[in-house]
Amino acid sequence: MSEAEAPKKRFIAGAVCPACSAQDTIRMWSLDDVPHRECVACGYADTLNAQGQSVPKELTTRVNASALKKPADPKVQPVQFFPNPKLKKPDGQA
Ligand SMILES: [Zn+2]
Repeated sequence: MSEAEAPKKRFIAGAVCPACSAQDTIRMWSLDDVPHRECVACGYADTLNAQGQSVPKELTTRVNASALKKPADPKVQPVQFFPNPKLKKPDGQA
């Protein structure tokens, strides 16, 4: 009853943000025994699962899934049109 509702966020000294590589910008707190982290520099946030592995807060949504599934870059060489004066006769019809 005496415990505060709001989780205490404390900076982790020496922690490096996995997203922006900034140091000492990671705040960590526990919520329902689940460790949460966030970077105050870039807004990156994740949680740690039972295996202690980072789980990005940004869950895979359909939008993200489609974003990941971007169409394969068809590295098609643009067809180069070399204007051939021989094909266009100055006095000929278009
Ligand atoms: Zn960051």
